[in-house]
Amino acid sequence: MKVVNAACNSISEFVYHNHVVNRFELQKQMYRSIRADYPYPIGTQITILACRKVAASYYVSIKKGEEWTLHTFRPHGAIAYDGRTYSVRDAIISLWTIDGRIKVPMQTKYRLTNQSELDLCYDRSKNQFYLNVSVEVPEEPPYQPAVYLGVINIATTSDGTQVPGTDCEQVRQWYQERRQILQSVGTKSAKQRLKQISTGESRFKKQVNHVISKHLVTLAKDTSRGIALEDLTGIRERTTVRHTQRDRHAKWAFAQLRSFIQYKATIKGVPVVLVDPAYTSQQCSVCGYTDTKNRKTRNVFSCCSCTHTEPADINAAKNIAVRAAANQPMVAEPSSATSCNYHR
Ligand SMILES: [Zn+2]
Repeated sequence: MKVVNAACNSISEFVYHNHVVNRFELQKQMYRSIRADYPYPIGTQITILACRKVAASYYVSIKKGEEWTLHTFRPHGAIAYDGRTYSVRDAIISLWTIDGRIKVPMQTKYRLTNQSELDLCYDRSKNQFYLNVSVEVPEEPPYQPAVYLGVINIATTSDGTQVPGTDCEQVRQWYQERRQILQSVGTKSAKQRLKQISTGESRFKKQVNHVISKHLVTLAKDTSRGIALEDLTGIRERTTVRHTQRDRHAKWAFAQLRSFIQYKATIKGVPVVLVDPAYTSQQCSVCGYTDTKNRKTRNVFSCCSCTHTEPADINAAKNIAVRAAANQPMVAEPSSATSCNYHR
């Protein structure tokens, strides 16, 4: 890892000055100079691993529209392996290292092919290496749900449950305060620290999103329900408000949560439907009356027509669930107890 990441840093300087971000073009240009430092065939393998990592890093930042800056790599940063630097046979994985190939036995219930992508990571606090592997997972056939689980916001479902492990408000505030302090400082080291903090926050949100999505999909599967999500396609075109950094963080986290829910649901055969989110937060889930005045505060919904009152997120999630059921002709039968409860 140290050798590859050191190579990454020198390749990164080349990329920074010459604007070459295509991985294969970069490999071609780098073979000679890296081989001069390390004897063949180590040079080739280091070049492959390092070019892959550097190219990916610049590519991501171009895609995000970030400023063109020199990327640097930590000594124990993760490295990606591909078919030329690892192989799998009979539950034994063979990995290239500078001391030659090492063979590691492993257990997995999914099929790992030689085309899979691998990331070798190091956790300094535990002094352990991890191999992150992408695998092919067989999908279960989807079932026909009788009822939908409406999901709104980060962790509220239409049956009013709060998903466990999502009480992250304190953590979010901690990150926000640190970010504000560092932004006001504005020195070079403060900017570096800011970047580190953003990475930490992203990791935290990702972890929370995995917990939430897993919980929701399991809940839906165990109760034979489908999952309904607000259809947010085209929302960027509809809004013209200038987004703050915090909004971007929040939006990104929600987009990630949705994609986690989608892929976990597909694996488990849980149907996911998207519904029109218009007025879901202003409409009464009991009588259907829609008015902006129904929203007494940000958190409380109270109907001006029938006086039905409950947390705003739960009310909206119920609306989404009802709309999902109405969108599906197969489940609009009166036999569904939940759809009878709502007068539309
Ligand atoms: Zn009402």
